[in-house]
Amino acid sequence: MSDAVALLPAERYFLLNVLRSPFPTNGFTFSSAREPVMAAPADFSYSTDPEPHKARTKAILAKHPEVRDLIGRTPLSFFLILAVVTVQILIAWLLHAQPWWTAIIAAWLIGAFASHMAYVLIHEAAHNLIFRKKAGNMLAGILVDVVNVVPSAISFRSYHLKHHSYQGDYDYDADLASRWEARLIGNSFLGKALWLLFFPVFQALRPPRLKNIPFLSGWVLLNWIVVFGFDAAVLFLLGPTAFLYFVFSFAFAIGLHPLGARWIQEHYLTYPPQETYSYYGILNTVALNVGYHNEHHDFPSVPWNRLPQLKATAPEFYNTLHYHTSWGKLLLRFIFDPALSLYSRMVRTK
Ligand SMILES: [Zn+2]
Ligand SMILES: [Zn+2]
Repeated sequence: MSDAVALLPAERYFLLNVLRSPFPTNGFTFSSAREPVMAAPADFSYSTDPEPHKARTKAILAKHPEVRDLIGRTPLSFFLILAVVTVQILIAWLLHAQPWWTAIIAAWLIGAFASHMAYVLIHEAAHNLIFRKKAGNMLAGILVDVVNVVPSAISFRSYHLKHHSYQGDYDYDADLASRWEARLIGNSFLGKALWLLFFPVFQALRPPRLKNIPFLSGWVLLNWIVVFGFDAAVLFLLGPTAFLYFVFSFAFAIGLHPLGARWIQEHYLTYPPQETYSYYGILNTVALNVGYHNEHHDFPSVPWNRLPQLKATAPEFYNTLHYHTSWGKLLLRFIFDPALSLYSRMVRTK
């Protein structure tokens, strides 16, 4: 361990300490000036405990039964879907006669936020939090999915609901990297940066290891037709720069961008052994409170706009957990901290 410290240039060591330190914690100081650099994990962490959410849900309901009132739907989300799609088409249209690189800048500065909001709305639809009927939610998910270039709303729904029921189960939880993926990427900053840049590609390669998830259905087919049809329309009607704008908005929304740190924030073991972490920073405003991940796992039937109220109703359950306040800082920590890798996850053994 001390060798690892000696090998690190002073600047990098300083940066790591800055990045690891002052995350708000419940009286637990993670970092100190001479803290040794932890070794890179060579495998996942393993737990025989049940996933942490069921027990907390029960305890919160017993102590604060009024949180049941927060369960419901937010049809307003449908108007946000229309707004996101309209804004993205409008910006793509504004860019259509500009040089190709303007698409990358606009995507990083604006498109990523719109595309990320689309992803959050797909997530709301996956939990049936927009309309009463399942079909209405699936259609709403497909509609907002058009801005994401690659169809994912319906398949995300299947994987994501399993992520809730089987958190940390390697055979069912698509949120866990595959073992080959974790081995390939390792813990170098270049590997992790490339992994974030190509995040959708790696996600798309996970299904073969997962059990009990139907690959093709009528809904998946509809999702493909609508999204690929939209892609073709953008390409032919607005041209390649407009299309690139959609591609990069999608890539940055979930990858190499402060917003991409959301995936790291949710379940990466930044303060082990805690397995789920919330983010309570400013970007929740444009990310529709998706940072409230502990709250969401505890009560997946509470829509995005009521999650802060859930935390406020049961503060003693959430303020005592570790949480993040900056996605930007977390992104840098994940990339540069050799102690974090795709193995920094809790896997559940039966
Ligand atoms: Zn999760
Ligand atoms: Zn969810």
